[in-house]
Amino acid sequence: MATMTFCPRCANRLTEKHDGGRDRQACPDENCGFIHFGDFSIGCAGVVLREDTDGPRALLVQRGQNPFAGSWQLPGGYAEHDESLSLAVEREVMEESGIEATVNDVIAFRHSVGGSIGGPSTNVYIVFRLNLIGGEPKIDGDEIADVGFFSLDEMSQMEAVQGLSRWAIEKALGTAPGQGLTADSVGPGADRPGWQLFGLDLPDPMLR
Ligand SMILES: [Zn+2]
Repeated sequence: MATMTFCPRCANRLTEKHDGGRDRQACPDENCGFIHFGDFSIGCAGVVLREDTDGPRALLVQRGQNPFAGSWQLPGGYAEHDESLSLAVEREVMEESGIEATVNDVIAFRHSVGGSIGGPSTNVYIVFRLNLIGGEPKIDGDEIADVGFFSLDEMSQMEAVQGLSRWAIEKALGTAPGQGLTADSVGPGADRPGWQLFGLDLPDPMLR
């Protein structure tokens, strides 16, 4: 993980402190108490399927900028620190593709430990299935070079379709909406401001 030299709260030079079973960088000022646990980020992406007369197609966007300019992937991005994850993925899908869609369930997540993906932070990347509401694919002309709905056969003819994106699309095509983790609005803490709770939906009404 990236090292930190000065306390981000009070600008003291950090020292080493044993906390939670290992040495960590910490602020020497007892009143401050800052401990550097690491750099973390949360990413999200959305699988949006469209049922066409000849079969389903999935929404993909083509990166306009490096790294990986030209590659096709699911629309998505980083969640802001004060933004719920479902709103983040719905916002990213709209910004990158012009398509309005709402979260249905969680298909998959990837955990990558610090530094392996584009920076020092440890990242959790959560892939949602979204319900298509409306809109036409539209290019933002900046981050995104092209956008469209494609079948698996069409993806096989395209260069540089990101493997993780295709993997998640195949998972979505092989399962029914709602089979993954869904938002639970009545579970413990789900009504707290800023909290979201996702869990498997129980199929048996007797177990609810
Ligand atoms: Zn401090």
